[in-house]
Parts: sequence; structure tokens; C-alpha cells
Amino acid sequence: MTDRLYYHDSFLYEFEGEVTEVVPAAEINARHGVYLDRTAFYPTSGGQVHDTGWITAAGKSEAFRMRVAEVAETEDGRVVHYIEADKAPERGMRIRGLIDPARRRDHMQQHSGQHVLSAAFIKLFNMPTVSFHMGEESSSIDLDIAKLEPAQVEEVETLANRIVQENRPVEIRYATQDAAQDLGLRKPPRADKDELRLVDIREFDLSACGGTHVTHTGQIGCILLRKTERVRQGWRVEFVCGQRAITTARHDYQVLTEAAGLFSGHIWDVPQQVRKSLDEIRGVTKSRERLLEELADFQAAQMLTETIPANGRKIIRRIYADRDLAYIRLLAQRLTRKEENVAALLATTSEPVSLVFAQSKGMPFDMSALLKESVAKLGGRGGGSKDMAQGGAPTIQGVEAALEGVAKKLQS
Ligand SMILES: [Zn+2]
Repeated sequence: MTDRLYYHDSFLYEFEGEVTEVVPAAEINARHGVYLDRTAFYPTSGGQVHDTGWITAAGKSEAFRMRVAEVAETEDGRVVHYIEADKAPERGMRIRGLIDPARRRDHMQQHSGQHVLSAAFIKLFNMPTVSFHMGEESSSIDLDIAKLEPAQVEEVETLANRIVQENRPVEIRYATQDAAQDLGLRKPPRADKDELRLVDIREFDLSACGGTHVTHTGQIGCILLRKTERVRQGWRVEFVCGQRAITTARHDYQVLTEAAGLFSGHIWDVPQQVRKSLDEIRGVTKSRERLLEELADFQAAQMLTETIPANGRKIIRRIYADRDLAYIRLLAQRLTRKEENVAALLATTSEPVSLVFAQSKGMPFDMSALLKESVAKLGGRGGGSKDMAQGGAPTIQGVEAALEGVAKKLQS
């Protein structure tokens, strides 16, 4: 068993120890596994993420400096340090361990913050925490409940921050399973340990936990609740504590400032401005559609007047460079519905290159077959019904000739 120094002092960032075993890096995992007789490095467990840092030679730190990239717990209760270095330290070597203090402090803020938060959910609404996840950017707890109201979230946040501001002592104590029964732990402890390590936030929370914690709640800084969402087991509450809360608030403010700048307004007016813009876009889109319909109607009437029938049919062939597929489809519809015996062969060369073939009801041709054949020759695809079909081609190359070929067929 490794002697875990962090159990007794979360603020111990340096320690000395001896290498008891080394597992050399495998081909695939280029990290050496190093075991020590004692360590202050926290291994990933209980929802808290591992520490990182360095291992140097005791007494002569310039001899070597190895990066501790990951720390894990083995099944037999030991702590393994994964080292990123060309050469691993040797067994029996005296080393000095250096914990990354910023990362440790951050983890203490998130984990102690979680205890305060989970206790606040119990105290106010009897909502039990079933799991805790510490992420790179934010952390979350899962609550075993059916419904969570935004007002409840705010109330919990207020109480949790009051506990932080009261700067209550956070003490570590030990108790046997039997003794713990009467202490009123927030949730039942794991049954596989005889002695329990208890984290005691004075007169607010008592939980069995092996994590690294602050000594006073004031060191948590603050607790900011973020997204809440339904998950399979209940509700997930995302939160950030301490420096992370500041970083998150700073980022939010920058994003809001940028958005407000686009509207030349105040950040608090952003939702109202966005709503207004969306309404305007909806209005403009509607009126544009109406105008295009009117335009298609007008254009179709003019084209039908200008076209002289041959063999009793009007074959209208046109290629547009500045219209989209939706418009030429609209135009084809208007052309073939206004009069009988009209066929429209339209194309647009603005990306994506598209073709629309249509005929008035009762005409004998199969527009779908004609279009499929034409676009296939151009290297594209398409289809539709007997009276109306559309398709696309990769380039404008050959589109004019294709329309001309079909027009000839329809006139014969
Ligand atoms: Zn804990």
C-alpha cells in the first residue's frame, strides 16, 4: 500500500519518497509506471481527476526532471505514477515529488465546492446527489429527482455561496463503519472499508471521501451553477467553482460584448435585439417570396405572349445566370399552368447548375424521362413526374446543347 500523504495535507505540494517498483514503458504506451513508498500525488478516483507534476532526484533536483502525466489507483490499493521521460528512475532511488499547485488548487475548489453544493440540494429540497464528474472545463453532479425548477437552482446557488462566504472550517476525521452509522453522513459510505475518511464542513455537511479538500470554505472562492439538463437517472447540474467561475464569467462577458457590438447595444439588450432581427428576417423572407411569385407570374405571361406556337405547341427554352432553382421551378409552373400545350425547358447556371423541364397537363411527353436522360449525359442526376422534373449538372458545359436537343424532340 502506498502511504498517501494527501490524506492528511491537501496543501502539500512537495515530498520525498523512494521508488519501490518500475514498470518500463510498453511499445504502445510510451509512459513508465513508477510506484513510490509514499506520495502526495492524487490518483483519479471518487470523481476527482488526478494531479500532474514532476519527479526529480532527491537532494540534487538538477540530476533529472521527469513529467508525471497521469496518476492512477491500482486494484491492490497502490498509486501508480505515469512518467513521460526517455528513461525511468530506478528502483530504490530517492526522489522528490512536485505537484502542479495550480491544478491541485483548482481540483480542491471544484471538489469541496461539490460537497457544499450537494449538501445544499439536500438541505433545501432533499435532492440526493448520485454521481460527481470533474471535467476539464466544468464539473457536474447528477441528482436523483424527477423535476428541477430554475428557481430551485438559484436558491441552492445562493445557499451554497453563503456557506462559502461564511468561511466554515473543513476538517478531515476518521471513523469506523459502525461509528459512522450514528454520525449522519449525507450518503451511505462504501461498505468495503473498515475505516472511513470523513470530510466535515462544520455544521453543514459530513461525507465519506478520499479527495483533496480546502481547509476553509472561503478557499472555494464561489460556486456558479450553469446548465441543467434531464439525464436518464434524473437531472444533471453543471457548475464551476473559484477561478474557473471567474474564467467562465469572463468568457461569457466577452461573447455577450461581441454580440452586443454587432447590434451597437448594451449586453442586456442582446436577447431583445436578436428577437427583433429574427422577426425582421422572417418578414423580409416572406415579402421576398411574394415578390418572386409576382415576378414569375409577370415574366411567364410576357414569355407566353412573345412565343409563337409551332405545330400547336409553345416550347419555351431559357437559361438564367442569376436565378436559383426555386425561381426557375416557380417560373416553369406558371408557364405550364397558364396555358395548354406549353413545354418549358429552363436552366440556371448559378451554382448549383440546375435544369427544370415541365409541360402543361394533357401533353404527351414524359418530362421525367427526358430530364433523366439529359442530365445523365451531363454527368448529373435528377427526376420527377411526367409533367414536371428537375435535376442538377456538375458544370454549365453542355447545358445549352441539351436543352436544344430536347426542344427539337418536342417540336417534331
Ligand atoms: Zn468527495
